[in-house]
Amino acid sequence: MPIDATLPYDDNNIFAKIMRGEIPSTKVYEDEWSYAFEDINPQAEIHTLVIPKGQYVSWDDFSAKASAEEIAGFVRAVGEVARMKGLVEPGYRMMANIGAHGGQEVPHLHVHIFGGQFLGPMIAR
Ligand code: AMP
Repeated sequence: MPIDATLPYDDNNIFAKIMRGEIPSTKVYEDEWSYAFEDINPQAEIHTLVIPKGQYVSWDDFSAKASAEEIAGFVRAVGEVARMKGLVEPGYRMMANIGAHGGQEVPHLHVHIFGGQFLGPMIAR
């Protein structure tokens, strides 16, 4: 079920549990600001999720409230994960779903990184 991205942060969401080590994940990258792991239900040959360690429901919440350091750290982590995966050439797609119309299901900001294949049109019609 898509979430309401205006709700307060829920510390029991599945990605919070992953970061606390309560639920297993296949870790790809971690630094002071961010954690990256493989999506459990990949939608492309490569499908990795990058999340900030701070408690932000969505891109909306993060862009409004995160510190400049958190934002810089997270943006750099997304780029680093794509480079680690060898995706810069021939390219990749990054995506963040926000709220109901965006189809966001997990209420902790995550950027999807898709790659390893031609990804087709930007939005299904
Ligand atoms: P979204 O619809 O943007 O909220 O995407 C949520 C993503 O989280 C989906 O692609 C799911 O496959 C993924 N996901 C859900 N639970 C897990 C989990 N335990 N480990 C890894 N990825 C997960």
